[in-house]
Amino acid sequence: MFIELVDALRCPNPHEESWLVAASTRMEFRHIVDGTLGCPVCKAQYPVRRGVVDFRRSAAGDGPVPWHASADETEAARIAAFLNLTDRTGFAVLLGGWSTHAPLVRGLVETPLIIVDPPDGTEGEPGISVLRCDGPIPIAAGSARGMAIDGGGVERVASAVRATRAKGRVLAPVSVPIPDGVTELARDAAMWVAERGTSTSALVTLHVRRG
Ligand SMILES: [Zn+2]
Repeated sequence: MFIELVDALRCPNPHEESWLVAASTRMEFRHIVDGTLGCPVCKAQYPVRRGVVDFRRSAAGDGPVPWHASADETEAARIAAFLNLTDRTGFAVLLGGWSTHAPLVRGLVETPLIIVDPPDGTEGEPGISVLRCDGPIPIAAGSARGMAIDGGGVERVASAVRATRAKGRVLAPVSVPIPDGVTELARDAAMWVAERGTSTSALVTLHVRRG
């Protein structure tokens, strides 16, 4: 887990958004290899092992979608283009099967990546931080410049959209319905790409007082 991206992680438990306190027992190249991330609000401790931060809860939740993809240069180029990863600022998030292409994406762009629920055995590497979770995506609201969604339950999709910044790109397979809070930009037979709106909720109403 890249130490600079720890600032963007949030406790997934149901309380106000809280940053996490990192305690590392082993660091390599500014990545936490072994350690823990602790929540100062609910005192939850999330272990970091072999560079992978584990946010999984014991109770059943929205799990990752089984999705067997193999790394593919064409897919990696499409991810980089659709998520508009033109420079090294910020970070982008690839969920589930999209994460298979992360090393090839990093070969094309300098944007740091966070991958969530990659295939078993995946470890972090420079430029690629790894999370596992079975609840909401544990990333701060409005912080990711791009998000590739793998599907999963409503909570997982909604939290992934929430973690994307305004005007950030959201990408998903066509099997995933367009969620609230994004506007579709384009689609092909396999995937759609959308832009995150500037409002978090479609339920916000503006009351204009006249006179
Ligand atoms: Zn907490």
